[in-house]
Amino acid sequence: MAKVGVLALQGAFREHREVLEALDVSVAEVRVPEHLSAVDALVIPGGESTTMTRLLDTSGLRAPLSERLRDGMPTFGTCAGLILLAAEVRDGRSDQVPLGALPVTVRRNGYGRQRDSFETGITVVGLAGAPFPGVFIRAPVVEFVAAGVEVLAAHDGRPVLVRHGRVWGATFHPELSGDLRIHQQFVQSINTAEGES
Ligand code: GLN
Repeated sequence: MAKVGVLALQGAFREHREVLEALDVSVAEVRVPEHLSAVDALVIPGGESTTMTRLLDTSGLRAPLSERLRDGMPTFGTCAGLILLAAEVRDGRSDQVPLGALPVTVRRNGYGRQRDSFETGITVVGLAGAPFPGVFIRAPVVEFVAAGVEVLAAHDGRPVLVRHGRVWGATFHPELSGDLRIHQQFVQSINTAEGES
């Protein structure tokens, strides 16, 4: 069975861990390059993307993570995690260089002050049942998606859940919603990817 890492440099990594464990997934926290070598897939949590980007460099994880992403490691970034994976970040810090694994452009804190945080039901492609409770906290806005990026959910006409090959990104926090269905979809995609090889 696949082992799923949760990048544990900063942010809501414990919550992701708990959701994955509730799905009976074997989970490991990733803080240094050796931890990354031991996992088959990775979740990058929400938090503060400027801090997390800095920690990516100081931990020595940037180069090995970029390589794993190039090799097609299934990866799911939520909120700040999506910002880290993006190709281009607007309103980021000038020294904030993203990993460029997901060909989208995001604007940090794109919902502005008025709607800093909100919760809304979102319809997700492939999810049966009730709308997914989308928890948005100082969320980024996806302003551009390149050809080949699947938009799995949108809110107010903007993509909020996207996938490009094995890399997934959500502008909201599925780990804070109490609903396991999106993590379950991601975990299923890992198992499918494993079956291909
Ligand atoms: N606004 C944060 C950032 O720029 C993201 C917020 C979040 O992850 N909840 O990193």
